[in-house]
Amino acid sequence: MAHVILKDLVKTYGPVYAVRDVSLTVNDGEFVALVGPSGCGKTTTLNLVAGLIPITSGDITIGERVVNDLDPKDRDIAMVFQNYALYPNKTVYNNVAFPLQMRRMSSSMIDQKVRDAARMLDISHLLERRPRELSGGQQQRVALGRALVRDPAVFLMDEPLSNLDAKLRVQMRSEIKRFHQDFDATIIYVTHDQLEAVTMADKMAVMNGGYLQQYDTPAQVFANPVNLFVASFVGSPAMSLIPLEVTTAGGRTILTSAEKWTIELSDQNARKVQGATSRKVVLGARHSAIRLHKSQVAGSVPAKVYTVEPTGDVTFVQVFLSGTVVNISLPPTFDVEPDEQIWLAFDQNRMHLFDGETELALQ
Ligand code: ATP
Repeated sequence: MAHVILKDLVKTYGPVYAVRDVSLTVNDGEFVALVGPSGCGKTTTLNLVAGLIPITSGDITIGERVVNDLDPKDRDIAMVFQNYALYPNKTVYNNVAFPLQMRRMSSSMIDQKVRDAARMLDISHLLERRPRELSGGQQQRVALGRALVRDPAVFLMDEPLSNLDAKLRVQMRSEIKRFHQDFDATIIYVTHDQLEAVTMADKMAVMNGGYLQQYDTPAQVFANPVNLFVASFVGSPAMSLIPLEVTTAGGRTILTSAEKWTIELSDQNARKVQGATSRKVVLGARHSAIRLHKSQVAGSVPAKVYTVEPTGDVTFVQVFLSGTVVNISLPPTFDVEPDEQIWLAFDQNRMHLFDGETELALQ
């Protein structure tokens, strides 16, 4: 396996910047997810690494080589696509063997590699079938097998689970994670699904508008989103983001809403908002960091219940607060009704604060 280094990578299509100045290092054996909304540039980034499209500027290094000008076949990569791209008329055996046959490897060597890969991926009993005789998950494993036998330096995966139904997606998520662990594979994995990135990857590269927004472990990205975009993109239900204004009075720092309810900040949070470029800040809170009260308690602010969604283990409640929808989670035994007047209290230790102008996290 090998590391991959992207340095100041740019891809333009006429005036459109698909990828802007993306720099990141994928360490040897690391699983990195490129994640972001549609059009953010993640597929373009993957295709640049694969060599399927030429770069506009910057450098791509795989292992010890700068591969900018190398053909895809010379980059020592294997791709696994959304539609698996299996040959419909070939058996599973021949689908997996195909890249080795193209390399004119001896048939005894091919046989050994195909059977080894089939055993590791638990598809030995399917080798004589054709792709149409397989389930989605089995086809996925065949596609992984075909990538695996090539013994590449890097696996590139583009939304490999998006054609599967919800249950199979979850199952294949753990299979790909297991694949990564078993083979110490360097994997770059494109997905629009933040949950897939959070659950599978060692690191996630969150992209928006062609820019790399944040590159870190899922735990770090979740705990310390660097800006409003990352805060709103990572986590489900989404982090609630409430625009407020900072005022100070008698040494106290207070956040005030358009409706004039207020939250007095702890010393630590007060220090953070001192770094804001204007009086506008955005308060961010994850669903579990907000407490719902049936009556007013110290530090709570008035709000109204919008919807109540029981899921069994936990009930998600959406609440209107100053024209913003706030997500809260409650134990299923908590009794609350739509349109009910309630009060919310924010946990100051788990509060996020963002600059209302620059949208950057206030540290
Ligand atoms: P999706 O999840 O929808 O595939 P993505 O994040 O992978 O989106 P890209 O496909 O990388 O996004 O596209 C990034 C930007 O580049 C988009 O604005 C897209 O319209 C533009 N783009 C991509 N390919 C081309 C092309 N061949 N010609 C012109 N613009 C393109």
